[in-house]
Amino acid sequence: MRLAVLKERRGGETRVAATPETAKKLAALGCKVAIEMGAGMASGYPDALYADAGAEIAPDAAAALFGAGIVLKVRAPLVAGEGEIDELALMHRGALLVGTLEAVANPDRAAALAAAGIDACSMELAPRTTRAQSMDILSSQANLAGYRAVIEGAGAFDKAFPMLMTAAGTIPAANAFIMGAGVAGLQAIATARRLGARVSATDVRPAAKEEIKSLGAAFVGYEDEESKQAQTAGGYAKQLSAEFYAKQAEVVAAHIAKQDIVVCTALVQGRRAPTLVTEAMVASMKPGSVIVDIAADSGGNCAATRPGEMYVTENGVKILGYTNWPGRIANAASALYARNLLTFLTTFWDKETTAPKLPPEDDIVQGVTLTRGGAVVHPQLAAK
Ligand code: NAD
Repeated sequence: MRLAVLKERRGGETRVAATPETAKKLAALGCKVAIEMGAGMASGYPDALYADAGAEIAPDAAAALFGAGIVLKVRAPLVAGEGEIDELALMHRGALLVGTLEAVANPDRAAALAAAGIDACSMELAPRTTRAQSMDILSSQANLAGYRAVIEGAGAFDKAFPMLMTAAGTIPAANAFIMGAGVAGLQAIATARRLGARVSATDVRPAAKEEIKSLGAAFVGYEDEESKQAQTAGGYAKQLSAEFYAKQAEVVAAHIAKQDIVVCTALVQGRRAPTLVTEAMVASMKPGSVIVDIAADSGGNCAATRPGEMYVTENGVKILGYTNWPGRIANAASALYARNLLTFLTTFWDKETTAPKLPPEDDIVQGVTLTRGGAVVHPQLAAK
């Protein structure tokens, strides 16, 4: 079974779907691994390391994909008109594609994959269950994004995070406020605490309050009868009423004016990120304060965020609105992403045929399968 790994071409993506470590393990499963030349360069994995791991270095995407029954990607393959090459047209009918295909937000993509006869698995749709944890790309990538957000926030802040008592005087500890305490937010809390900041955090899910406190941060937030029901069965935050958000904003407004660093991570699945930091709140902050908005991919939690950019507001607040935060720590993010994909393949590997066997009734397979046998089968898409 030939397995191809392509260089990512979409939107400046820096990550890669297999590392030399996973390439070696994929080969041990019985795969003939082909890596497109330069696929790991942007994340610090040169071709020579893949070659040492036993992979073939293919000169271009067409050569890597030739005869490939499995294709590993970070982002969805390019189709005609989207970039320099039509990656989808180079894939074989019947091939299994595993990646972050983001087809729920781009339903045409699922239709194109089905029309091309690709069996596509989109790993961001995996259930958040204990069994799926080691294949959970949302968690592995969000964890690193949360860490990186604090590190870049600290880099942009020209005071100190810890209290520094020196012979020349004392620099006070920074106040860091983390908005949204899911996977990224909890890692941001832990990282800011390790750097010595005074950390507070907010969330709407009742379970998050205890998690915030258990990491040694103060909980700041608004709670009422509505917020007691703020969590879906899948563990995500629900979209709440305008009245709730107005009350939450009152509590946040008073707190935010005293913060040096604000890290925004709040998301509501399938929707634009909620606006939690208004222009007026930004205007209330001290010059030199930093807002890091890792929700920028979904529009941002801060009204003043410019997705993809860093800029300084008129009152001297730096807003880091970069997108693709895992791609800003591409070596580690690729290492974890590649292991998530390896675990998925290993879990559903048939040793006898040395090929993946994806039982349609399995909850993980059901969760991630977008297309099978030329049809769109995912429940979130099939009805559209
Ligand atoms: P996410 O990325 O969807 O959202 C980030 C956080 O933003 C969430 O904590 C959410 O409650 C919060 N949020 C939404 N609206 C907000 C608002 N108005 N104000 C403040 N915060 C707001 O979440 P995630 O990191 O993907 O985690 C989602 C859930 O999945 C959590 O309950 C997490 O514990 C759970 N989870 C479970 C597993 C597992 O069991 N295998 C793995 C990972 C995550």
